[in-house]
Amino acid sequence: MSSESQSEKDVYSKYNLKRVINASGRMTILGVSTPRPEVVDTVLHGLNEYFEIKDLVDKTGQYIAKLLKVENAVVVSCASAGIVQAVAGLIIKDDRDLLFNLHSSDKYVPREIIVPKGHNVNFGAPISTMVSLGGGIAVEAGYANECKPEHIESLINPDTAAILYVKSHHCVQKSMLSVAQTAVIAKKYNIPLIVDAAAEEDLQTYYQQGADLVIYSGAKAIEGPTSGLVIGRQQAVEWLKLQSQGIGRPMKVGKEGILGLTKAIELYVTEPKHETGQQMVIRMTPFIENLNALDGISATVVWDGAGRDIARAEISFNTNVIGKSAAEVVSFMKQSDIAVYFREYKVNEGKVEADVRSVTSEQLDIIYNKIKNIIQGAK
Ligand SMILES: *Cc1c(COP(=O)(O)O)cnc(C)c1O
Repeated sequence: MSSESQSEKDVYSKYNLKRVINASGRMTILGVSTPRPEVVDTVLHGLNEYFEIKDLVDKTGQYIAKLLKVENAVVVSCASAGIVQAVAGLIIKDDRDLLFNLHSSDKYVPREIIVPKGHNVNFGAPISTMVSLGGGIAVEAGYANECKPEHIESLINPDTAAILYVKSHHCVQKSMLSVAQTAVIAKKYNIPLIVDAAAEEDLQTYYQQGADLVIYSGAKAIEGPTSGLVIGRQQAVEWLKLQSQGIGRPMKVGKEGILGLTKAIELYVTEPKHETGQQMVIRMTPFIENLNALDGISATVVWDGAGRDIARAEISFNTNVIGKSAAEVVSFMKQSDIAVYFREYKVNEGKVEADVRSVTSEQLDIIYNKIKNIIQGAK
């Protein structure tokens, strides 16, 4: 046994951990993603060296900004910490008193953060809680299923500190403004626009469309270590960076995370490796055909609801035929020796989606066999 597989066996057996097949995508509850070896090497190198941290933060930020053709950038501990510190930075600016006393100070500054109602989602934690942590007051614009320019405009007042747009599959997609439309409003009223693009793949478009700060999760599309990226306008990013002396301190990112994410971004931009949606379709076609041969199961290709180049297998379970609900199948899939996780957003409609980005073809066979056993066990 190689030393690598030995150490791999070690953590699973040492702590009695469950093995997992991740067909759910970039999920925080499963460990998000696995960085490339070059990124792992960079993390290791970072851990073993000393730096002037301010120098490291500034210079890696400049390096990333140049790569992405944006004014300024900074690595943070995760996207949620990016949202919190973006809100705090735009409220506090360079006021030292507020920087040190954000939540206890009663000094008057604009604190309202306008969020389209359909964007105030729970991504694992609520968007509005991140706004509150950053010293802001979330003000919802529009309705659960509709947000028009006038819904945002009617809320703008002297207490408005920023507009927060969440670009995500978690959000309501229909009858919502685009980032570009929101940027037009922000410019018209001279209010900064924050875009939470945590799981998005395009590292340039929202900045180019006029956002002042754009936030990404380091381990999702970029496949870096646990970390986050904030890019944006020069001054806004500098205000955000000041938060390390205030509420940002308990969200500290380590030297290894800073260096690891910087390397991951460089590779993401210069050597994109990722499978295209069309390649995913080809890889999952035999899996889908096998599933369709089972009584009571139908499977088909569906494309990402947020418009990313990701194809997934949507698997529908006919309860009348298999004698089990989709929720029961999902729960069985998690219980066996190797836990299989799907995307469960539509389980109440009798279907799940399998995301194959982190699943090998051998694992697709394992998933197929597990489904087959579960439904045949029902008869
Ligand atoms: C994942 C996600 C986050 C949080 O990202 P972390 O890096 O885990 O903090 C925030 N917003 C959205 C829309 C997300 O998908």
